[in-house]
Amino acid sequence: TVMTVAKVWKLLRQPVGRPTPENFICVEEQLPPCDDGDVITEAEYLSVDPYMRYKIRQIPLNSTMVGSQVARVTESKNPQWPVGSLMVHYQGWRTHTHLSSKFLQTKDNNVSPLPDMGNLPKSLGIGVIGMPGITAYFGFLEICQPKAGETVLVNGAAGAVGSIVVQIAKMKGCKVIAFAGSDEKVAWVKELGADYAFNYKTTNIGEALSQAAPENINCYFDNVGGQFSAEVLPHLADLCRVSVCGAISTYNDDSKDIGAVSLTSPFSEATLIWKQLRVEGFLCYRWNDRWTEGLKQLQHWVLEGKIKYKETVFHGFDKMPSAFIGLFDGENIGKAVVKL
Ligand code: NAP
Repeated sequence: TVMTVAKVWKLLRQPVGRPTPENFICVEEQLPPCDDGDVITEAEYLSVDPYMRYKIRQIPLNSTMVGSQVARVTESKNPQWPVGSLMVHYQGWRTHTHLSSKFLQTKDNNVSPLPDMGNLPKSLGIGVIGMPGITAYFGFLEICQPKAGETVLVNGAAGAVGSIVVQIAKMKGCKVIAFAGSDEKVAWVKELGADYAFNYKTTNIGEALSQAAPENINCYFDNVGGQFSAEVLPHLADLCRVSVCGAISTYNDDSKDIGAVSLTSPFSEATLIWKQLRVEGFLCYRWNDRWTEGLKQLQHWVLEGKIKYKETVFHGFDKMPSAFIGLFDGENIGKAVVKL
């Protein structure tokens, strides 16, 4: 039998600040044989996501970069996963993967069949009909509890998660104010239905909000954090619900490591009290037991044309580091994926 050789991206050095290509190294790895109950998969689409910047801090040097992919079974001794079947798994930045019988039987192994995509691209399984979609769906609806007529603020609005939040908020009858990092992104977010959209790089955030939301903001879906949130604070209405989804503007700041007490949170106690804010962080995995329900709803909305999506596709496994680093330069519009 021919042994499969995988290409794998490993963490070579800890980044200091913004990651660079030199932080990663691509190596070849021979996979174990496909024994009884095992499968071997080949990646079709790999995901790059902002959370990987946190993971880098937690994993040892020389370990495989963490991440999800849409993969096809190429060898199988497991009737549950015949050759040709498609799955989403989280085995990291690698072209080929050996999934042992034991691993496949483990609960919470994060292996799931790719939902039947019909004519939609398979890559949506790591995008709008996958983790980012779930994040937008539950993270917005459950935490912000938006009501028709309320004003919703979304930043990172042309990204994988933000672009979906904009559209769900419009479906719920809200007024949507969106921020993104280029004029092209702003134009797209307006197409998605945002009532107001601004380029935060060329706009004074406070002035824009004074004009767009004189009645102040009832729901703030935050992907960016840091200074952006500081500028937003005076424009939050009493009893505003803040869904803290991400804080990408701080991810490359090594002084704001996860677990460390942040002395720079813009949400001061006085503001929390006097505006009676509810500020809640979340991880999408909170809704693991409703994951399938979420995917079904998202797919339904995509098929109905109620949710539009874009993807920025990078071609080739060698693009993994640059696609990932590009997230911090706003290179992607919609979901960033790497196609093999
Ligand atoms: P994304 O928005 O598709 O890509 C990242 C985008 O962030 C970039 O395109 C860039 O767009 C923007 N950005 C980068 N640096 C920035 C900065 N300094 N200030 C403002 N914007 C900046 O990524 P995503 O997957 O949808 O994730 C969006 C956020 O959600 C991230 O914070 C991520 O960590 C978080 N998230 C959380 C969960 C959860 O379970 N809590 C799950 C998924 C994602 P611009 O051109 O607009 O700057």
